[in-house]
Amino acid sequence: MPPPRSAALLLLVALLARAAATGSPWVYSDGAPVQSNTIRITTLGSGSPDVRKEQLASGFLVEVGNGEQDKFIFDLGTGAFINLWATGVPLSTLTKVFLTHLHSDHHADLATLYVGAMFGRKQPWEVWGPSAATPELGTAAAIEGLRRFMAWDTAARRHIDLVGRKDDGDKVIAREFDFSKVNQVVYKRNGVTIRSTPVSHYNTSGPVAYRLDFQGISFTYSGDTRPVPELTNLAKGTDVLILQNMGPIEDLAALSYESQLLINTSHITPQQAGVIFQDVKPRLGVAHHLTVNAASRAAIIEDIREGYPKGPIIINEDLTVYEITKEKVEVKKRLVPPRSWGYWHAESNWQAAAPAEGAARADGGGFQAVGLPSSK
Ligand SMILES: [Zn+2]
Repeated sequence: MPPPRSAALLLLVALLARAAATGSPWVYSDGAPVQSNTIRITTLGSGSPDVRKEQLASGFLVEVGNGEQDKFIFDLGTGAFINLWATGVPLSTLTKVFLTHLHSDHHADLATLYVGAMFGRKQPWEVWGPSAATPELGTAAAIEGLRRFMAWDTAARRHIDLVGRKDDGDKVIAREFDFSKVNQVVYKRNGVTIRSTPVSHYNTSGPVAYRLDFQGISFTYSGDTRPVPELTNLAKGTDVLILQNMGPIEDLAALSYESQLLINTSHITPQQAGVIFQDVKPRLGVAHHLTVNAASRAAIIEDIREGYPKGPIIINEDLTVYEITKEKVEVKKRLVPPRSWGYWHAESNWQAAAPAEGAARADGGGFQAVGLPSSK
């Protein structure tokens, strides 16, 4: 694995080359099949419960370059389904879902994926997630509740979609695991290993972080948590570390001091993220779950840099893509099709050319990868 400095250099060279060619700072990802030895992470939602049009709540589409072209969903919070749909990836291929915890900004869009993916799906829908203090608070109970919530919908859909079908497309398997086990393997198939470890969010039992390893490359996703040593240990040696962050939010001012304190001590602040990045030294650190705008960017970077003065970092935004290989970590932007209807039944991934020169995003895409070798 190259040291962070050379990875950052490769990242910078790739970005500069693309910028010179197109006038846009973004390298585009069109959803073509993932190359072998590659993990591609597409951010479906980069925001927080304070969901807004520019930033949907947490969700990731993870595509792995194995023979099966396996795809995974890691969280699917409020609104994140919109960007999932927009990628054009056939929903029927999204049978593997991993939940960090059961807050709505991480799982509220599951119902839409559940019924949407029923079209054309031939495998059972599997949902991995943690147990909790009592069975009724765990993942299995939540998924059973989701099935009941969608009972009329799925019964009605059978008349239009599932007539005469004998496959397992409407079956659901909730793979609830013990949240408290440290660094436990919860998934191992087709060369992909996923581990979980307990984290601490609102002093409740259940929330976990995940790490996915594939052919010597990996990413780690913290879920929502305050800093805990279990998270740092899970992430040691990982290539891309996606850390939930929560900065001061003006709206919190209306809450009591006690409520503000609880919220702020149940998440990772940008300053604390800097400390974790410094401990782990990933090839790329991703600050996720923040409200990103022109006013907040500089302050977030400044806060992270207190504890992590040099390594490559980026503030996550919707549809930002991270492609990991042993040679490099590339930051791209996912192209989305101009229309959405018809992808329920699509058999192949949507393909498209990058936008014409200068047409990408007038604001320059809000690109923020700092700490690269040329940065001051
Ligand atoms: Zn959250």
